[in-house]
Amino acid sequence: MLFDTHVHLNARQFEEDREEVIQRAKEEGVEYMVVVGFDRETIPLAIEIAESHHNIYAAVGWHPVDAIDMEETDLDWIEELSSHSKVVALGEMGLDYHWDKSPADVQKEVFRKQIQLAKKVNMPIIIHNREATQDIVDILKEEKAEEVGGIMHCYSGSVEIAEACVKMNFMISLGGPVTFKNAKRPKEVAEAIDLDHLLVETDCPFLAPHPNRGKRNEPAYVKLVAEQIAELKGVSLEEVSEKTTRNALKFFNIKE
Ligand SMILES: [Zn+2]
Ligand SMILES: [Zn+2]
Repeated sequence: MLFDTHVHLNARQFEEDREEVIQRAKEEGVEYMVVVGFDRETIPLAIEIAESHHNIYAAVGWHPVDAIDMEETDLDWIEELSSHSKVVALGEMGLDYHWDKSPADVQKEVFRKQIQLAKKVNMPIIIHNREATQDIVDILKEEKAEEVGGIMHCYSGSVEIAEACVKMNFMISLGGPVTFKNAKRPKEVAEAIDLDHLLVETDCPFLAPHPNRGKRNEPAYVKLVAEQIAELKGVSLEEVSEKTTRNALKFFNIKE
């Protein structure tokens, strides 16, 4: 049994064959998924997919790349949706310094507002980080995000920062990059961080794991991520699957 904690089945890349993709995931043992919505277009579809599928849940938030587009009414909307029975987390939110559509100060403001909202509605958060690790850790500390906890999604930072995040009540989620031959850091993190604090994800349609690198990613491939972690830790695939699934169910407060 596997839990893909971060999917974008709401992306246009799945418009044509979404149901087949979900079916293939089930055949590979992917029992649970969280569909992440992060703007005005993707949030309603994330909710719709979660509403129409057993064991598929949704997360709602505002992506840092589009921080500049967020209005006060969007935050109110996210707050409203947070009480939906299928919404299990707020996000993805965070900082992304790779793209320059939204200035860093705007990104930080939008990130802080969402952490404050998560504390208000008592929901965990999903963190998107690209080239902004130190600022993210500083903001999580300043805003006391450990009160709600969260997920460092598709984590690619150092073991040291991962350990600091675990201390702040955060889970480390590994995705496709852990399977890449040249990805040293995610492999080090997979080895060093205890299974109790690890989750698996695809972030599909992006970042397909080896040997599907470069192709469209899909939830069925999360098994390749779990297999890689099992190999690095010297434990069975069953143990990684079962533990990470249990971790995710507990983290998202999903009652089976
Ligand atoms: Zn992301
Ligand atoms: Zn994502």
